[in-house]
Amino acid sequence: MEEKKITWPDGKLFAFTVFDDTDLSSVENVGSVYSLLRDNGIFTTKSVWPIKGQQKPTIGGDTCENPEYLAWVKKLQTDGFEIAFHNATFHTSARMETLHGLQRFYDYFGNWPKSMANHADCQENIYWGQHRLTGLNKLFYNILTRGKRINFYRGHIENDPLFWGDYCKQYITYVRNFVFEDTNTLKQCPFMPYHDPKRPYVNFWFASTEGANVQSFNNALSEKNQDRLEAESGACIMYTHFADGFYTDGHIDKKFESLIKRLAKKNGWFVPVSTLLDYLREQNGDCVATSSQRRALERKWLLHKIRVGTT
Ligand SMILES: [Zn+2]
Repeated sequence: MEEKKITWPDGKLFAFTVFDDTDLSSVENVGSVYSLLRDNGIFTTKSVWPIKGQQKPTIGGDTCENPEYLAWVKKLQTDGFEIAFHNATFHTSARMETLHGLQRFYDYFGNWPKSMANHADCQENIYWGQHRLTGLNKLFYNILTRGKRINFYRGHIENDPLFWGDYCKQYITYVRNFVFEDTNTLKQCPFMPYHDPKRPYVNFWFASTEGANVQSFNNALSEKNQDRLEAESGACIMYTHFADGFYTDGHIDKKFESLIKRLAKKNGWFVPVSTLLDYLREQNGDCVATSSQRRALERKWLLHKIRVGTT
């Protein structure tokens, strides 16, 4: 895929942001991480679950029904962080529950969620599992995953009790899809955000960089990779779980802290995911992925999945 140089606003040399998957998060374990980001002028995107689930979660975490947690998230929003959607709650929700979750989100934050990421345990995920892929790539994915969960995800299937594709299209602008190891996410997917005509209920998809836990995040944001991101005038959307090892035993991970402080000294554009994607859309126009672009992106992600195994 050809590399495309973007001119960043205000003479900035590159862009960096984070989409934080809320799994296992609480004020106790991610509060200090957000203080560090804010103190260094790095304003990112934090996802939430608006509703406290009725069932025991496989992977839990705090929800907006906890008043203390909600007050803290609202403060983040006031400070300049983006609040995003991670499904209605941490387990599967039927159509009306998802709508209820979206409405609660609106009540809490005064806007519909502009961006979202599917939560692995939720069967109402939209175009997820094998549905992320097309044609031969889908076949290959099913062989690779031995057909597990073959029709598990159903949020995009009309008339299914879990269907909410129409609400997704109505309320949400950006949905996260493929994840790559490259710190320069934009180099891997230069045409993002993009619409995929085969997946009409998502307005625009975006790609991310693999940084699921503190180790992979620190690797992706190493000194060398920071310098390369800057040299390439690139953009990084790190996909992470800030509850996964960034703050343990009362301390922020030292390496993470020093990497963030180093990054903050650079002339980068540190804005939330949706702000970055809005800007890319202004620059690139509303991209509609062609069949060959889609095929190449899917194949590249499959190779990544074989190597890394996650997301
Ligand atoms: Zn999740």
